[in-house]
Amino acid sequence: MNITEIKEIKDLLSSPKKIVIVPHRNPDGDAMGASLAMYNFLINLGHEATVVAPNDYPDFLKWLPNSKQALKFDMQNRQAKKAIEESSIIFLLDFNALHRVGSDMENTLKNYNGTYIMIDHHQQPDDVAKYLFSDTSICSTCQMVYHFLEKLDAVSQINKEIATSLYTGIMTDTGSFRFASTTSTTHRIIADLIDKGAENAKIHNNVYDTNSFDRLQLLGKSLSNMVVIKDMNTAYITLSQSELDEFNYQKGDTEGVVNYALSVDGVIFAAIFIEDKEQSIVKISLRSKGTFSVNKFARNHFDGGGHDNAAGGRSNLTLDETVAKFLTTLPDYQSELLHSYEE
Ligand code: 5GP
Ligand code: MN
Repeated sequence: MNITEIKEIKDLLSSPKKIVIVPHRNPDGDAMGASLAMYNFLINLGHEATVVAPNDYPDFLKWLPNSKQALKFDMQNRQAKKAIEESSIIFLLDFNALHRVGSDMENTLKNYNGTYIMIDHHQQPDDVAKYLFSDTSICSTCQMVYHFLEKLDAVSQINKEIATSLYTGIMTDTGSFRFASTTSTTHRIIADLIDKGAENAKIHNNVYDTNSFDRLQLLGKSLSNMVVIKDMNTAYITLSQSELDEFNYQKGDTEGVVNYALSVDGVIFAAIFIEDKEQSIVKISLRSKGTFSVNKFARNHFDGGGHDNAAGGRSNLTLDETVAKFLTTLPDYQSELLHSYEE
């Protein structure tokens, strides 16, 4: 994003507009945090802003400031379409390819004639937005929104609501500031967000200490299903639809579970395979440490993508077949897997 583009965006935002903000499907803390921060920023500037999420977001994010105002494209379709049609600007946050909103909403967005502004930290962005702010080295889209506000000379306008949303997304996308993507700049921004009103202890509590008993039982099931493949430095977890049903699975319940597989001593590649009978797919989350790229692995084998150390994908095979396919591909990566961590 160059100086001319920043100036153009400043001009665009200098008079009241109807603006829509879109996170990816199954929005996580970073996608919702970035969207609600942008929403609060634009509302305060006098714009008529609407967050349109493709579908619902997890309960552990429902306390975020103004999250109740967000529309869900699948449930509030007429209202959501109207907001999109009437808007002159759409922000696309925390994704970089239109299919990441799901096919229904993708069709609506494909026909959109207004101005797209995309802010995202994933690799290989599609060419869909007039204004693209993309940086794969930054830990979270929320940190990028902070940098975006810096470019607009608007950091002083960050209030408690905006600070709270940005803090939440940076926290969730960095695994509470522990992933390698967390830099000294990240910590400086976090310090500033606390100064601007983000209540750090409360935010951690709201996100991480509001588990249901069922969710923890499901975690127990996940851990007992874990398989470690020592000679590949790999571990994986499976969850079948019947296991999800047994523990009354709610959206977000499996978030972060794959990290337990990555926490096994010596493991640098972790996967979780989650059966979704309704969509007839297996949803896959992949994590790694060091140089082994799960983005590449997901693109090569499971119709997905993401970052080098955190990616996702899907399979149309059964759960057992998907795991079998995973196990057959592993030997091709053995030398990468054995040498990923020590560099
Ligand atoms: P998660 O495993 O938490 O669902 O996703 C990890 C990362 O991979 C996220 O940054 C997410 O955006 C990305 N990701 C997850 N699933 C997919 C997918 O199917 N396609 C692509 N391109 N990225 C994905
Ligand atoms: Mn993100």
